[in-house]
Parts: sequence; C-alpha cells; structure tokens
Amino acid sequence: MTWQVYAVRFAHRDASVRGEHFYGHDPCALDRFPISYYVWLAVSGDEAVLFDAGFTPETAARRGNREYLRSPMDTIRSLGVDPDVVPHVVLSHLHYDHTGHLRDFPGARIVLQERELAFWTSRHASRGEHAHLAEPGDVAYLVEQNLTGRVRLVDGVHEVAPGVTAHRLGGHTPGLQVLRVATEAGHVVLAADGSHFYENIGRDRPYAVVNHLPSMYEAFDAMRALADAEELIVPGHDPRVLDRFPAVTGLEGIAARIA
Ligand SMILES: [Zn+2]
Repeated sequence: MTWQVYAVRFAHRDASVRGEHFYGHDPCALDRFPISYYVWLAVSGDEAVLFDAGFTPETAARRGNREYLRSPMDTIRSLGVDPDVVPHVVLSHLHYDHTGHLRDFPGARIVLQERELAFWTSRHASRGEHAHLAEPGDVAYLVEQNLTGRVRLVDGVHEVAPGVTAHRLGGHTPGLQVLRVATEAGHVVLAADGSHFYENIGRDRPYAVVNHLPSMYEAFDAMRALADAEELIVPGHDPRVLDRFPAVTGLEGIAARIA
C-alpha cells in the first residue's frame, strides 16, 4: 500500500534568529532565521493519516509574534479530506505547535508514545521552559480522551496503517516520534521536531530545545536509516520544504506534495 504525502504550512514567524534554533553557541546567533509551522497529511484511497495537529488561530493570537497563514483544517478539506472521518491522528510530541486541532478530528484514534504523555503529566512538566512549550488544555484533552479509549499509547515502533509506521526516537522530548510512510518515491520520513530544519540533520547540529542530547544525534542516524533517500526526510519547521517539493495547485506557499 502506497500513500500520497503532503506538507501543509499554516503559520510562519519571520522575526526569529539562529540563536533560538541551534544547541550551543552560534557565532551568527543574531542572524535572521525564519521558522514555519506545518502539519502533514498522508492519503491512500479512502484512508488518511494526519501527522500532528498544529495550533489554532486563538493560540497564535495569545502567543503573539506569529503570522497565521491559513487554517490547516481548510487546507485539509482543500486536499479532499473530511476531518470528521480521518481515522488516524499521530502526534509527534506534545509541544503546543503540534496539538492544537485535536478536537477537530472527532473520529480519529490518536496515536502517541506513552512516555510522551507520561512526561507532560509528571512533576517536570511545569519547570523552566516546559511550562511554556505545552498547551495545558491540549494535554488535559488527551488525558480525558485516553480515559474514553480513544488514545492509543504506544512504546517504540507502531504500525498506524499498512505502509505507515511511527518510530519513537526521543531527544527533543522524551517520547518524540517520527512517521515513516511508504510512497511511490520510496519511504518518506516525516521528521517533525526530530529535525526542525535541513541544517539540523544536514550538519549534525541539534535544535536548541533538548531533552537528551545523545538521542538527538541518534535520531538523525535513525531517520537516515528509515528513509529511502536523504531528500525524503522532511524537516518539521523549515520554510524551504515548500521550495524543494512541488506546490499543490491553488495552494502555493501553503501545501506541497512530498511524494
Ligand atoms: Zn517541539
């Protein structure tokens, strides 16, 4: 079973600098370094898998400083998929920019690594930068939905659907997972925050937000092993994804066809 894969950009922040994005000292820390925000959609016949749930316009307004381009919900509909009947939503991790639209997929089973949810309900969740990186309402919603049986908490490798597997790599957060998708071009790896930018994996330079540094390096190696070509590893926040892959007609600057 092969899938079509789309990157769907919904927000952008131009006024960000290198120093925010790379671990350790950066001699060019104040150089401009824009960041984009995406969700990803895999489609095969009537089947659909959404990878990550973005953030809402309300969250964007509250956090400020972000340009909200187009609701990912509208773009998913433009790609011919009805969010009400999407059967699978896979979450890479529980940072606020990956969890916002969970409530808009009422028919979906939500797939998440068990240790990711465990972390965000632990005594560490409120400390330091963590408090700012998650949306309390989204975490609470997941806890609630888990009690109804709608959340599938997994550990390690999990087959979401034939040809689509989730792989826990950690590093950026304790239970960060990436999604591997079989396509006609080969296996695509949707890295999400396993590699925010091409430069993270390309130059072996971890992102600034670190849970476990050795795991971040190992995640780079694991993604190379999972993808059939390095260009099929899709970073989670790089604006250049939309330059490297063809735009969907009518959705230029918003959606690209990865494979
Ligand atoms: Zn993150």
